[in-house]
Amino acid sequence: MIDETLTMIPGPTPVHPRVLSALSKPTVSHVAPAFVETFRKALSDFRALGQSATAQPFLVSGGGTLSMEIALVNLVSPGESVLVVSQGYFGDRYGDVAAAFGIHADVLRSEWGRAVTPAELEARLSKGSYAAVTITHVDTSTGTAAPVEAYCDLLRGRKELVILDGVCATGGVDEPFDRWGIDVLLTAAQKAIGAPPGLALCLFSPRAMERRRSKASVPAYYADVLRWLPVMEDPGRYFATPCVNEMVALAEALRMIHEEGLPARFARHQRIGRAVRAGLEALGLALVTAPDCRADTLSVVFYPKGVEDVPFRKEMASRGVVVAGCLGPLAGKAFRMGHMGNIGPGEVAKALSAVEESLAVLGLGVSPGSAVAAAAKHLSA
Ligand code: PMP
Repeated sequence: MIDETLTMIPGPTPVHPRVLSALSKPTVSHVAPAFVETFRKALSDFRALGQSATAQPFLVSGGGTLSMEIALVNLVSPGESVLVVSQGYFGDRYGDVAAAFGIHADVLRSEWGRAVTPAELEARLSKGSYAAVTITHVDTSTGTAAPVEAYCDLLRGRKELVILDGVCATGGVDEPFDRWGIDVLLTAAQKAIGAPPGLALCLFSPRAMERRRSKASVPAYYADVLRWLPVMEDPGRYFATPCVNEMVALAEALRMIHEEGLPARFARHQRIGRAVRAGLEALGLALVTAPDCRADTLSVVFYPKGVEDVPFRKEMASRGVVVAGCLGPLAGKAFRMGHMGNIGPGEVAKALSAVEESLAVLGLGVSPGSAVAAAAKHLSA
């Protein structure tokens, strides 16, 4: 990466020089023919990232929270109910988004660091029905990866639409939209896709588009997908000015994803995830996330006794590595290390040796090189 500071937070993630150079191209008209072509390519590459033959993509200036709102307001009307499957802060956020629109949210919550089990979901579904179910693929607050495929198996054939928040997953973790039966995949540019922040990305299934069309109106203007649809079908048309530079950057990030190839990219994230976890555990650190639901895109790590949040992150930063603190009940007790998007073996080694050194400086007896050596065993492929 070109900056000496390595941003290992769970988004924004380091942006590749190719993408930065795309971002810095002169700002052009949003209807310039070359831009329209780039926009069109970004749409089709995003749909290909979801491995979908039929989904309608939407790329709108904004971010993950806007994409959460777009999904919900277009599918669920005020007064209807939604089931929110939550394994942390961002799952809970979906309850807040629903409340803002007068939508009743029934929240099925796991303990932090664990996932809601398919059996728990099945039990809840047997008691009621909902207009939609929201699932957070990876909750960025806890590093918990939900068993999405198993949930989708339970939801297949039911009337609830399936909304998947892929903000901390899409681009790093497999999300076969059609095969799993997802109705809306929503995400943002700045995490595993590896573009700068600035865009809300959604895929809508034909069933989701039908649901929107069945409503005379929705409590939204900018977030109404029917206002955006003509632009997504023909990016030369205008509804609201797209962020042209960011779109060009996103198109380049998506091009790089497809150059790498989806299977190779997902395998890389698995390898990097395993390596980081092995490295951290070699230092005796405990992960917040239970072993059966650890995400490949970030790790959430308890501080050992005697190590405080602010001094640790200060030591890390002085070694050129930025990690994130935690939210909610984990604030001050754990830190988060993102490892998605453009992260490779070099970044993993730099981050882990910074952890080793920071802990040593703070008085923890760690053997130098042990984390990096443990990680290296997983990085040879
Ligand atoms: N969902 C998840 C899982 C997230 O991690 C985030 C951001 N950390 C969001 C939604 C919200 O995205 P944004 O900050 O881009 O609005």
